[in-house]
Formats: sequence, structure tokens, C-alpha cells
Amino acid sequence: MKLFDVYPLFNINIVKGNACQTYDDQGTEYLDLYGGHAVISVGHTHPYYVQKLTEQLNSLSFYSNSVINKLQVELATKLGKQSGYDDYNLFLINSGAEANENALKLASFYNGRKKIVAFKKAFHGRTSAAARVTDNPKIIAPINDNISVEYLPVNDIEAVRKSLKKNDVCAVIIEGIQGVGGIVVPDVEFLQALREECTKTNTILIIDEVQSGYGRTGKFFAHQHADIKPDLITIAKGMGNGFPMGGVLISPMFEAVHGMLGTTFGGNHLACAAGIAVLDIMKAEKLIENAAKIGEYLKSELQKIPQIKEVRGLGLMIGMEFEQPIKELRSKLLYEQKVFTGASGTNVIRLLPPLCLSKADVNIFLERFKKCLE
Ligand code: PLP
Repeated sequence: MKLFDVYPLFNINIVKGNACQTYDDQGTEYLDLYGGHAVISVGHTHPYYVQKLTEQLNSLSFYSNSVINKLQVELATKLGKQSGYDDYNLFLINSGAEANENALKLASFYNGRKKIVAFKKAFHGRTSAAARVTDNPKIIAPINDNISVEYLPVNDIEAVRKSLKKNDVCAVIIEGIQGVGGIVVPDVEFLQALREECTKTNTILIIDEVQSGYGRTGKFFAHQHADIKPDLITIAKGMGNGFPMGGVLISPMFEAVHGMLGTTFGGNHLACAAGIAVLDIMKAEKLIENAAKIGEYLKSELQKIPQIKEVRGLGLMIGMEFEQPIKELRSKLLYEQKVFTGASGTNVIRLLPPLCLSKADVNIFLERFKKCLE
């Protein structure tokens, strides 16, 4: 059997990792400024993370959601404390797409409505309702077009007001910072007004923090820069540092009913061990503070480079927009300078490194990056 060929792949076989470094099967070292789409939060093969997962693997990897799982309780308690959402509830699943699907479902249970408002260039995973970074008909299935999603421009509060006026929108879903769409940070005033409009019209506000959450922007969640509280928050990626897991943080206004949501693998013992280890490391090593500090340094150094049209983002979620396509530049960075980066569309390089990135790592990157621009 062959693999279904949906990913454009670099011809590199990564077999090992350590903090912000990865190694291919020839032993060549690469600086990882992408962390596998923002997944590596505490660093590759962190010893505490490896130890906790190994211990768990040696005792029990899985039992179903039909018995008490105290690891889920420990994870929820720690996550509540560290994120500032102590009073919310947690539902555990396995990925970002599942987190958003469950959040939309909860919203619809709550107010009985069907319409969704999302934003142009949004990406919410391969969900039935809300992924629209492209209009390519080979990628958007007809079934997706039949679900009622209205895509509005980010920061256009009047368009949101107009849409919510009839009190028939189920939920507004927005990323804390748009990632796949090009690192677009919504205005603080826009997010605050969005919160107000949703409350006024009994519309559920979902913030998708799958990419922007878990400390990446220098706060636990990106929306905390705007000092607002959504009704539902979706998480995944950095939550397990590579172990597939996701979650929905649910406001106390939602009442749980047995059978309302469900999953086989969500919140399994191994995933919880990974999630707890991540939170322990983030706290012990002050990785959120590190993301804020190192991110600011990296951003300010990038802003001095005249070839870059615009540098956007917060903490360690940074986009560099160029006048011209970046494909060649990214290949040079990878094949000649041994640095992994990401892309958004044709002209934006996306940096989503592990949150343990050091100033020395940044300086190595800047030196190699400048060589590619010569
Ligand atoms: N939401 C956002 C903002 C994302 O960036 C992604 C993935 O890139 C997803 C949801 C989907 O997550 P997953 O690929 O785990 O389903």
C-alpha cells in the first residue's frame, strides 16, 4: 500500500530531537523554528516529559471513559490554575479539528441555532463548518459549502453587528491569532466589542487557541492580551508536546448531560501523562515568560531587516511578510542553513518554535537567515 499523497514533503527524514534541535538519519542537525506546526511546546524529548510518559506506558496506556481516570482530573485542575480558567470545565479529545467540532456542537445545544460566523482567512482544522483559507474547489468539499457559515473580515465589528442582529447566529468562532491565514492579530478593541455583541445576542463566542494557545504568545491564551473571556476555548497542538490531544474549555454556563459528547480515545492515560508533564515543565521553566521575552527580542531584530515587508505576531508566533514569494528563501533556509520554518500562503514565513527557544538559538537563526538574504 502507498501513502495517500496529500502532503508536499521535504526530502528529509527526521529521526531525533533535543530541545530546539532536530537530526536527520544522516546525523545532520537542524534548528527547529517550526515545532511541527506549533506542536512542540516544551522542547523535543524533554527528559521530564520522556520520564513521565515512560512511567505511564509501563503502568497503563489506555482504559476507556467508563471508569474514573484521576489523571484527567489532575490535568484539568492544573490547566485551570495555570490558564486562569479555574471555574471552566474541560472536555478532552484528540485533535484541534475535534475540539472545534465539539465546541460548535456545544454552542448549538446551548441556543438551538445553526448559523456560524467565522472570519476570512480563518483556519479551524478540517472541520465540516469552518476552514476557509482557500477557495480551491478540490480542497473545499461540497458538503462544507452546504453548512451555513458566513466569513466576515477580521476587525470589522460593523459586519459582525449586522450579522448578529437577527439573533439567529449560533456561534462566532475566531482564532486567538490567525496562524495558517498569515499571522493576523485581531485588534484588542475588536475582540472586546465581539465579546459584547455575542453576550447581547446570546451568541456563543468560541476562541480557537489550537495554534495560538498554551503560552505561545507570552500569555497562556492569545485572547488574554485583550482581557476577554470567551464561552468556549479550543486547544490542541502544544498541549501534548507531540502526543495527539485536544480539549475544549467550557464556561460554567453550559450544563453537562450524560451522553451529550463522547469519544473513545480522548483523555486516555498516556495523553493525560503527556499533558500533565507539559504543564509541569511550563510552570517550572517559566516558558510563557520565556516566549514573551525571546519573542520580543526575535521580533525586534527581524524588524531591523529591510528585506522584510512586515513582521507580525506576539511572543513566539511570528510572521514575516515579503513582497515576493518565499518558497525559494524557505528552501535555502532548510537545505543550505539547516533551519526549519513554516509558511502561510505564498509570501509569509511563519515561525512557531518550541517555547524553550534561547537567545543563542535566535542569534544562530538570525545569522543563517541573513546569509539567505544576501
Ligand atoms: N485550529 C487552528 C487554529 C489550527 O491552526 C489547526 C491546525 O493547524 C486546527 C484548528 C486543526 O488542528 P488539527 O490538525 O489537530 O485537527
